[in-house]
Amino acid sequence: MAKKIDLYKLEQKSLSKIDCNNHLNQFLKKDEQYQWLKEIDKFALTNSIYNLDSAFQHFFRRIKQGETPGFPKFKSKKDNKKSYTTNFTNNNIEVDFDKNKIKLPKLKWIKCKLHRNFDGKIKSATISQTASGKYFVSVLVEIEIEQKSKNDNIIAFDLGLKEFLIDCNGKTVDNPKILYEYEKKLAKLQRQLDKKKKGSKNRNKQRIKVARLYEKIVNIRKNFLHNISSQIINENQIIISEKLNVKGMVQNHNLAKAINNVSWHEFTRQLEYKSNWYGRTFHQIDTWFASSQICSDCGFKNQEVKDLSVRQWQCPNCGEIHDRDINAAKNIKRQGLKELSVA
Ligand SMILES: [Zn+2]
Repeated sequence: MAKKIDLYKLEQKSLSKIDCNNHLNQFLKKDEQYQWLKEIDKFALTNSIYNLDSAFQHFFRRIKQGETPGFPKFKSKKDNKKSYTTNFTNNNIEVDFDKNKIKLPKLKWIKCKLHRNFDGKIKSATISQTASGKYFVSVLVEIEIEQKSKNDNIIAFDLGLKEFLIDCNGKTVDNPKILYEYEKKLAKLQRQLDKKKKGSKNRNKQRIKVARLYEKIVNIRKNFLHNISSQIINENQIIISEKLNVKGMVQNHNLAKAINNVSWHEFTRQLEYKSNWYGRTFHQIDTWFASSQICSDCGFKNQEVKDLSVRQWQCPNCGEIHDRDINAAKNIKRQGLKELSVA
């Protein structure tokens, strides 16, 4: 990396990734100062060089476009997330599900907690250390996915703050209660952290506490989202929701809302790729569609429902009584089906 920057400063040219790899093997590994490089497996180094290379290519592209970007940065030692990726070759990565062990290059067999079983060909493993100091290995595997058998079920839903999800049949899914408690606790720990002196031992201890709880929350949320998205994909052939309002998401300063936004985003992502995997149709309608204000029975548009505090309303045209969210989900369903039939 330093070599790349030096070279650029001297000659305004770039070192290719192959040159970089050669430089590493011919010089750096023989240099006493860099003896530790030998302890790291070669794929991890090569992958780092390739990542570095794409950062530099991006840098040169911007220069060509007449910009003056900053140099790609060295990864800070204070960087909270540290990771490297290593590729599979000659069974250098193996997982033993009975003994709860994983074999990694240069590290041999290590005891670990395996989150779930998998089949398939191992392609690579990414080893990372989280902010709280825990190590994680994620293994990339290649598998053949069998499409699910088709059915006639259609589901449309609205994502909310009070309930996580409200569908067109009136079914709701609540956020896990435990999360609410943990999030309150997290806010408290965070406030305590802010009061601790910068650079002190106590601050570091507190930082780890915050990071641990944060990781716990992220994991519970992820599990929760996976369970629901899998269930929806299992049961329905067509899945319809509203596009998320990205602009509104960035501007949000409320913590609970911000966390929800992240969940909605992740949930949508899961539905999208799982639909692709299993041969389902996932469709998102545009947000400008006034799903809340339209009567799902007669199509009358009731402007008064714009007010978010209106939870229930009676249609002035046909007299039907609506729950705000269920009515919205019904409209999302109708609009989605309309768009799908045109497409
Ligand atoms: Zn009506």
